[in-house]
Amino acid sequence: MSDQNPVFIPGPTNIPDRLRAAMHVQTRDHRAPDFVETFAPVLEDTKKVFGTTSGRVITFPASGTGGWEAALCNTLSPGDKVLVARYGMFSHRWIDMCERHGLDVQLIECPWGTGAPADKFEAALSADKSHSIKAVLVTHNETATGVKSDVAAVRGAMDAAAHPALLFVDCVSSLASMPFEMDSWGVDIAVSGSQKGFMLATGMAILGVSDKALAAMEAATLPRTFFDFKDMMGANASGGFPYTPPLQLIYGMRESLKMLLEEGLDNVYARHTRLAEGVRRAVGAWGLELVAQTPDLYSDTVSAIYVPSGFDSNALTDQAFNQYGVSFGVGLGEMNGKAFRIGHLGSLTDVMVLSGLATIEMAMADLDYPIELGSGVAAAQEHFRSKTGAAIKSA
Ligand code: PLP
Repeated sequence: MSDQNPVFIPGPTNIPDRLRAAMHVQTRDHRAPDFVETFAPVLEDTKKVFGTTSGRVITFPASGTGGWEAALCNTLSPGDKVLVARYGMFSHRWIDMCERHGLDVQLIECPWGTGAPADKFEAALSADKSHSIKAVLVTHNETATGVKSDVAAVRGAMDAAAHPALLFVDCVSSLASMPFEMDSWGVDIAVSGSQKGFMLATGMAILGVSDKALAAMEAATLPRTFFDFKDMMGANASGGFPYTPPLQLIYGMRESLKMLLEEGLDNVYARHTRLAEGVRRAVGAWGLELVAQTPDLYSDTVSAIYVPSGFDSNALTDQAFNQYGVSFGVGLGEMNGKAFRIGHLGSLTDVMVLSGLATIEMAMADLDYPIELGSGVAAAQEHFRSKTGAAIKSA
């Protein structure tokens, strides 16, 4: 396995040299008076990525899973009802966490390959006349299936039902790669992590939190210590941390935000759309199918792709890794053996994506897939040339 090759897993993502250098710093004293100068701008700039001016950013030394737990334990009490739809491995895991915390999960089962069903949420919320549902949980980008859900439509459903529940959104594999509008979507807690769109090492849970969510803390009795919002906000306000912060990640985050804002968030999102569409064109050229059932559900950060019947997707990802030293995402849960995933988020260019497509084509050819070598690469090339204007210049 060569570390020269990019990874095509949907996170952790490739870490650009600039960010590796930013994280490669000697220990500094987090209790020194200058820590606040480092950390406060990080919190402020992260708000731009969440699309919030009214919310706060709270971080913890954790991965995205820790962020899920922080969202639940700060705002809810044992026995509280939460409304959630299951449409993939990550929505499933958050549901499992709710159950383990003694929450009462009202579950909407959806086929994998579909997204959050706003109409079913509206029906459930409208039927909940006593407002026993305290929170609605949505996985914005289901990394297991490559499905993007319409969070604005869920907010619309909540408003149509005039329901006061909190709205929690997992944006672990979408934030900083796909548009996210915490304020206009009325999101109360958005949960993300450092290792995907922010292109950093794993280890920081990053949350956007609304005033309404903070108010819910007063009545919430689920136990919390490490993940207590109040402790973290109180310490941050005076330039500190309630325990030892992940300093190197904070320096990395500062640089990551500079990179994202230098490129411009709209350009970052447009690049992800272009790369994703290149991958989708390749999938079409191979004659394969995406797990995401309709184009409005296509994720711009990860594509889950069914292998033809009679083939094992794990053999394909193994072949790509063992023969060519390149990692692709395996099929998770129900998709195991049936689908593989191409992660196309973070620090990636058209050229890097073409190398990934060329690699998986070779692995498919090695395993006698009914595909033509070069067909997917050519389809993506055409797309990238059309989008950069190169096709027009050379015509
Ligand atoms: N939610 C989504 C959508 C994810 O893709 C992941 C991880 O891939 C998680 C949650 C869990 O995050 P972590 O692995 O950082 O704990």
